[in-house]
Amino acid sequence: MSHIVKSRLTQAQLDAHWMAYTGNRQFKKDPRIIVSAEGRYYTDLDGRKIFDGLSGLWTCGLGHSVPSINEAVANQVKTLDYSPAFQFGHEKSFLLAEKISEFMPSGLNRIFFTGSGSESVDTALKVARAYWRKKGMGTKTKFIGRAKGYHGAGISGFSVGGIPANRTLYGQGLESYHLPHTQVPGSEFSKGMADIGKERADELLNLITMHDASNIAAVIVEPMSGSGGVIIPPKGYLQRLREICDQHNILLIFDEVITAFGRMGAQTGSEAFGVIPDAITMAKQVTNGVIPMGAVAFKQEIYDTFMDNGGPDYMLEIPHGYTYSAHPIACAAGLASLEEIKQQNLIARVKDMSPVWENCVHQLRDANPIITDIRNYGFAAGITIAPVDGEPSKRPFQIAMSMWDKGYYVRYGADTIQLAPPFATEKAEMDSLINALGDSLQEQNQ
Ligand code: PMP
Repeated sequence: MSHIVKSRLTQAQLDAHWMAYTGNRQFKKDPRIIVSAEGRYYTDLDGRKIFDGLSGLWTCGLGHSVPSINEAVANQVKTLDYSPAFQFGHEKSFLLAEKISEFMPSGLNRIFFTGSGSESVDTALKVARAYWRKKGMGTKTKFIGRAKGYHGAGISGFSVGGIPANRTLYGQGLESYHLPHTQVPGSEFSKGMADIGKERADELLNLITMHDASNIAAVIVEPMSGSGGVIIPPKGYLQRLREICDQHNILLIFDEVITAFGRMGAQTGSEAFGVIPDAITMAKQVTNGVIPMGAVAFKQEIYDTFMDNGGPDYMLEIPHGYTYSAHPIACAAGLASLEEIKQQNLIARVKDMSPVWENCVHQLRDANPIITDIRNYGFAAGITIAPVDGEPSKRPFQIAMSMWDKGYYVRYGADTIQLAPPFATEKAEMDSLINALGDSLQEQNQ
C-alpha cells in the first residue's frame, strides 16, 4: 500500500533527529509518522487507524489517552510542575511508593524512583554493590545476566544484557557473565511455561565455581524476557535460580520493566511465576507510558542496611539519584495509571483472557512453516521466524512493515515478532491482528 502523505517534514528536519533503535536511513526514506492515539489505536498522517499490537513499547496496557491519567497530569502541571528531588519532597511520591508496593510481592516495600528502565537497572546494580560493601563484603562487585537478556541502554544495562547486537559496538562494559537462555531444543511451541529447560539454571553453579561467590554481587534476569524474543521461563527455572542465589549469598534481581503491572495476568512476573527476588526493576506501565518514570522495589532488609549506618542522620545513606527521581507529574500519572488498572480489574481480565490469546496466536503455526517457534504468556507472545539469506532480522522487519501498511503496529527483535496488545483488547481485535499477521507471513512465501 502506498502512503498518501509520507511526511510533512523536510529532509533537513528528518535528518536532524538521530532516532533511537531505528534504521534511520530506511525510516527517513519511508517515514511512518504517528499523529495521535486514542484507546487501542494510533492515527497516522494519512488518517489511517492503526491497532497498537505492542501497547506502545510494552508501556500502554491501558490504551492511549486515558481520561483519568490525562486529567491527573493536567492538574499536576498546574499545581506543582517540578519539585527538587533531593532533600525536599512532595506528597505524591510517598502515595505512589505505597501504591506500587501494593503491587509488589510481600517484603519488597521500599521504592526508589528513577526516570526510566535503564536507570532502574543502574540503580539496582549500584545498590547491590553498595549493599555488600556495607556488609563488609566489598569484593562482591560482579554481575551475572543471561544470554538474550535486555536490561536497558546504559553501560550497566548493556553489560548484563545478552543481545549481541546491542553490545558489539561498545567494547568493555562492567565485569559480567551470562547464563544461557532457556530456549532449548524440544521446547518449541510450548504454550505458557515449557516443561524442559529448568536445568539451565544450574549453569549458575558453574559460573559461581569459575568466579567465586565472594566476587558476585547479583544475578539479574527478566522473569519473562521481552526484547530478546519473549522467552517464558521453563517450569522450575526461576525457583532454582532463587535457591542457588540463597545458598551462595548472591542477590537476585528481577528486571520487570515489561512484566510488572499486569502484562502477565498477575501483578508482577514474580507473582506469575511464584518466585520472590530481592529487588524488582520497573518502568513503562507504571505511568502507562504517559510520562517517563522508573522505579526499583527493594526488600526491606536492603533498605534497612543503608538506614542503620551509624552516621549523623543528615548524612546521605546512599549518594545516588536523579534530577527526575519522583518527578511530580510522573507520580501523578503513576497514581492514576495504577488506580485505573485496579478499578477496571484489568489484571484479572488479562488472566481470564490469556487462554483466548494463546489459542489465537498458536493458530498461526499450521499455515506458516517459516515459523519455528511460538511462545506466549499473559497478553504477550513471541513468534520466531526462520532466517532468510542468513539474516535473522530481514523477514521480521518486512513483516512488521507489511503489518503497518495493513493498519497494525507490531515490533520485531532479531528473529522474533513481538506482540503485547492492550489489556482490554477484545477477542475480535485479537482475531483481526492475528489474521493480518497470517497474511503478512504468507507474503514471505511469495
Ligand atoms: N529492562 C527491560 C526488561 C526492558 O524491556 C527495557 C526497555 N525495553 C529496559 C530495561 C530499559 O528501559 P528504558 O528504555 O525505559 O530505559
